[in-house]
Amino acid sequence: MSTLVIENRIWDQAETMPREELRALQIERLRECVARVADVPFYKQAFQRGKISPEAIKSLDDLRRLPFTTKADLRQHHPLGFLAVPREQVARFHGSTGTTGKPTFVAYTADDVSLWADLCARFLVAGGLRPEHTVHIAFGYGLFTGGFGLHYGVEKVGAAVVPAASGNTPRHIMLLQELGAQVLVCTPTYALNIAEVARAEGMDPGELPLKFAHFGAEPWTEKLREQIERELDLIAFNNYGLSEVIGPGVSGECAARNGMHIQEDHFIVECINPETLEPVAEGEEGELVFTSLTKQAMPMIRYRTRDIAFLDHSPCPCGRTGVRMSRVAGRTDDMLIIRGVNVFPSQIEQALLRVEGTAPHYLIEVDRPGTLDEVTVHVEIRPEDFSDRMSEMHALRDRIDREIQSVTGIRMNIELVEPQTLERSAGKARRVLDHRREKDMK
Ligand code: ADP
Ligand code: ZN
Repeated sequence: MSTLVIENRIWDQAETMPREELRALQIERLRECVARVADVPFYKQAFQRGKISPEAIKSLDDLRRLPFTTKADLRQHHPLGFLAVPREQVARFHGSTGTTGKPTFVAYTADDVSLWADLCARFLVAGGLRPEHTVHIAFGYGLFTGGFGLHYGVEKVGAAVVPAASGNTPRHIMLLQELGAQVLVCTPTYALNIAEVARAEGMDPGELPLKFAHFGAEPWTEKLREQIERELDLIAFNNYGLSEVIGPGVSGECAARNGMHIQEDHFIVECINPETLEPVAEGEEGELVFTSLTKQAMPMIRYRTRDIAFLDHSPCPCGRTGVRMSRVAGRTDDMLIIRGVNVFPSQIEQALLRVEGTAPHYLIEVDRPGTLDEVTVHVEIRPEDFSDRMSEMHALRDRIDREIQSVTGIRMNIELVEPQTLERSAGKARRVLDHRREKDMK
């Protein structure tokens, strides 16, 4: 495990603004934001219905009078119905990955792009980035916001970028060795993939020059962080964002790594019960909702992310005042309801990582052959633990079975598969195959 000590450096003093001042700034910016979207048809109608005008926003409580915006609303106004500036002011289009259906487009003005770079610089610096570093970016560059957002952030800090992009893992390893990047940017599962391919090439992945990593774009667990840190001998930071809100840069961890500070001078966060739409109590899990206060091209009012996490307002030793969000447990659309019980793929990951002898490569297959849901978890065995002895494999399967039951409360079928048989993703990992959904769609 890396023994590096991370210094607490702050990119922008706005990150430490006293909360009173922050609240006053948020109200002022919310008013401006309401004025900016007043001609966007979706908001125009909603504001007319709710008798809302910028002047009507007097306190942050007035936020609750504003409408929610959902992915379905974006799809209904596809492709550019939410544009809030004349088309000629748009400097960039991006799109969501489309993990949960048809991608939606988002737009940026030149100022939006510059803000985005700053917000990414903040969490990169919080997580160890220095101007003298070289950063290897293994996110896709394209409509996906991950590659470009992190790229601009690194440039803003003044460090060197290797825009390696996604795919072709042996080439990543060669570039890491030859250019000596100290910082890795990708999805956590892709980092595992890099470590695995390095080992297959006869290298110790810990020998790569990497010191820090910034991971995001998909849910991952604390156990997975420990494993990646051990294998690649680095310190890994979590950062979060989504294209509808700005892309990466919505929140990120500081040196304390006890939650991701939300950049509240630019985003208002709410955490709600996805069923009642009422705010949950502090520390309770709920769906995160963001209002992008300063975006120009396509501001979002109360955007429902479908991401489940909790908020922590307790002070952080780093001095940043932005509220911290927990790891994302999962998305409401990834949540499986198995025989009436809610299960997130991240719970399966948590159970698997408690069992020595399994790689965190897994696929959850759900079906309903009769009237009852059935779940099969395909779990890859690490090459060194793969055995021809039936008894050993049975014992391993029983351990997995017990751990999954203790974490989820549900009995699942466990199928052990040989090393390297589950598909590897260069971006967001696909964890669930739900045949019930396919049947429902027919
Ligand atoms: P899509 O919604 O199509 O995947 P995006 O590329 O905008 O499009 O991805 C944003 C989503 O990625 C978030 O809503 C969240 O579900 C997930 N995500 C991003 N960062 C993290 C993170 N650090 N931890 C967990 N999930 C994350
Ligand atoms: Zn902090």
